[in-house]
Amino acid sequence: MTVPVPPALPGPIDPPARLLMGPGPINADPRVLRAMSAQLVGQYDPAMTGYMAETQELYRAIFATRNDATVLVDGTSRAGIEAAIVSLVRPGDRVLVPVFGRFGHLLAEIAERAMAEVHTIEVPWGQVFPVSVVEEAIERVKPTLLALVQGDTSTTMNQPLDEIGEICARHGVLFYTDTTASLGGNAFEADAWGVDAATAGLQKCLGGPSGSAPITLSERAVAVISSRKKVEAGIREAGDVDAPDFVRSNYFDLGMILDYWGPRRLNHHTEATTMLYGARECARIILEEGRDAVIERHRVAGAAMLAGVQGLGLSVFGDVAHKMNNVVAVEIPSTVVGDAVRASMLSDFGIEIGTSFGPLHGKVWRLGTMGVNARKDAVLQTLAALEAALRRGGASVPAGGGVDAAMDVFGGTEV
Ligand SMILES: *Cc1c(COP(=O)(O)O)cnc(C)c1O
Repeated sequence: MTVPVPPALPGPIDPPARLLMGPGPINADPRVLRAMSAQLVGQYDPAMTGYMAETQELYRAIFATRNDATVLVDGTSRAGIEAAIVSLVRPGDRVLVPVFGRFGHLLAEIAERAMAEVHTIEVPWGQVFPVSVVEEAIERVKPTLLALVQGDTSTTMNQPLDEIGEICARHGVLFYTDTTASLGGNAFEADAWGVDAATAGLQKCLGGPSGSAPITLSERAVAVISSRKKVEAGIREAGDVDAPDFVRSNYFDLGMILDYWGPRRLNHHTEATTMLYGARECARIILEEGRDAVIERHRVAGAAMLAGVQGLGLSVFGDVAHKMNNVVAVEIPSTVVGDAVRASMLSDFGIEIGTSFGPLHGKVWRLGTMGVNARKDAVLQTLAALEAALRRGGASVPAGGGVDAAMDVFGGTEV
């Protein structure tokens, strides 16, 4: 038998220069890439356990929490989502998922796979839930867990969460939220808002590559996780696997993950060292600039992009008052072929903007301003290129309308 060999050895990785202005992933901050090129150390080297402890401390500040149980789950954002849900939900538990976009459907799907009894409520895409509607559903469904996305990139909406934790606590419901798209670019206060579990990823406002999922868990959430059956070092007891308390995933068993990060340092996986270096640097960058200053930078860049697309005469999708700072959805003018304009943005200008899913497919583009790209030159270049691509694609657009409107928000240089 001959072993297939590639006809020609591919060259080293040398990606084209791109400005990633879609809904994520975005360009990683060069500092994060530098941190990720550092050499590895052993899993239990004091240097490594020291980095792990520092990373926990940094993410407590990012999530605004005192939760001891603040760690990284290795994997993309949905690794954090899956870990939270399979570890907090027993088969047969009632889970309430208010769905206002694609990622609400994902939470519901994962809860179903965890064999929960899943109840959903929905609002049309482009809207968020009034708090009273969530409370009424909690009273009706009586779930053990509320799973609610904060910012859903599929619709750009930012669900207000500040009153949800108090309602959940009053009804004895655990409150889990997916903050992947919003954390770092929009207000989030785990403790002040009474959040029991929050998960994120690096590739949106945190300014890193995908592949690490920060998570924080309240004492109430840790108590639920600790009450479940545990397997240590792969040795299980008779009947464990059939018990409803048994977490039906090894990789995502938060009890085991917390034992690995905690003082016992019980081996579970091998921590993804390079991703940890990256996650640590993402948090360091934000805290150095200041958490509130970073959110404000996202607010200004988002406001400038919004003003810019409106200045180009484009209509914005959804309830703009509840839009995330870091992404805007614009309706594709009927005079152009949406995919042709997007392709021109990429191939002629090296700028990536996003397409859309589900009910919005083919109807809107999504423009992101997040992480290191939430800055003036990136916004202005994107608007200038979009104006040209639209005009060349057959739309009539006000000359300079996008850049001028954005410049007004930023306070441009007089020329
Ligand atoms: C982008 C996004 C994710 C991404 O999940 P990955 O596994 O990292 O691809 C998850 N949740 C929300 C709300 C997002 O916007």
